[in-house]
Amino acid sequence: ADVKAINFSPGPCNLPEQVENEIKATFDAPRASSMYLSHRSPEFVKILEEARKYTKEALQVPDNYEILFMHGGGHGQFAAVPMNLMSSPEDKATYLVNGTWSKRAAAEASKYGKPVVISSANEDGTFTSNPDPANYDPESKYIYMCSNETVNGIEAFRLPKLGPNSPPLVVDGSSDLTTKPIEWVESNIGVIYACASKNIGHPGLTLVIIRNDMYGKQQNICPGVLCYEDNIKADNAWNTSCTFNIEVTALMMKWICQEGAMPEMERRSIAKSSMIYDVIDNSNGFYSTPLSDVSIRSRMNVPFDVAGGDTETTNEFLIKAWEKGIIGLRTKTPFGVGKYLRASLYNGISIEQTEKLKEYMIEFMESKK
Ligand code: PMP
Repeated sequence: ADVKAINFSPGPCNLPEQVENEIKATFDAPRASSMYLSHRSPEFVKILEEARKYTKEALQVPDNYEILFMHGGGHGQFAAVPMNLMSSPEDKATYLVNGTWSKRAAAEASKYGKPVVISSANEDGTFTSNPDPANYDPESKYIYMCSNETVNGIEAFRLPKLGPNSPPLVVDGSSDLTTKPIEWVESNIGVIYACASKNIGHPGLTLVIIRNDMYGKQQNICPGVLCYEDNIKADNAWNTSCTFNIEVTALMMKWICQEGAMPEMERRSIAKSSMIYDVIDNSNGFYSTPLSDVSIRSRMNVPFDVAGGDTETTNEFLIKAWEKGIIGLRTKTPFGVGKYLRASLYNGISIEQTEKLKEYMIEFMESKK
């Protein structure tokens, strides 16, 4: 298509136009570009401090948390979490499994400790509900959950509040962190992390926010590059950090703050997702989505099928969308192509761009009547 693409892919995402322009401008700045600045240079340390400052401001991170920009993506944290928080392979942690990514995280944790899995999988292996977090194993070092299951389209709009005596909560916020407020104390957050490639930047950086009583308990086998204590003590420069990606995230976090931070990101997420769910719900079954429980329908990833999943109609829908510059609705995952298309509505997608998708979905449906 010869129009600028609107990317509804589940990740990597595009960033808001203003942030993309600011990234371009970094190459013309009077100082060297963060693409080749030394990670230990004073010029780069300033960028790192900005990234921390805006992250803290955007998410209202309390003072007793450390902010790290690590390597390894979500999968790096699937391993880092158990290796840092379970001191011995005999330690236990509760894993709330409500979709593909938390299931993967639990499988990874079983290499380093004893995850106690509480799953809400249906008999056919699909997920359409959440397990009850109150059923956690009391001997757990932590309770793990994924706040937005990107593939399954299940989201927790607020994190559970299990009380101060429960084990700390560890959250994979890869696909929803920075789209709604976090209640740090009430939710007893020990660690929250997000790979950058959806709401906050570009793949290669992983944001990890760690309460300061949570590090220093790692197993001996924990590699330094994934070790919270080593990275915190080395001031985020234990090894070469992802300098350019840290600047991208700094610019993205600054944009989030300028736009109105969590209240505004949440307002937009509700507006965008409601628009698409309304089209689906008012389509007389032409479009359908697997989740009937509206209290957990993801605002980030809207799974839907076209004409009951009919291959020919779905392909026509995707080709005509592509001709309009609407891309990324069907992607492969490690779990296969999946039955559903998905419209992903991260921070980089505007309300106006979502309207284009809405209009297209209505137009296509009308053309089939
Ligand atoms: N967790 C969630 C919720 C995700 O959506 C993804 C990626 N789609 C991951 C973890 C894995 O992240 P990565 O590909 O960066 O390892």
